[in-house]
Amino acid sequence: MLWLKACPKCGGDLTLERSLWERTISCLQCGRMLRPDEEAQLGIPKEERWPRRAA
Ligand SMILES: [Zn+2]
Repeated sequence: MLWLKACPKCGGDLTLERSLWERTISCLQCGRMLRPDEEAQLGIPKEERWPRRAA
């Protein structure tokens, strides 16, 4: 998934990355990773948000 020009820092493009236990949304241009509240502002569905690892 990709969100164009959605980075709160530089206005760059955000991409979704998945690994086994977590997934992050980060900026292709500056590498900024979004906080959960920022993901919520983008309207990203809950299934696509954190939790990372069940603490
Ligand atoms: Zn950025």
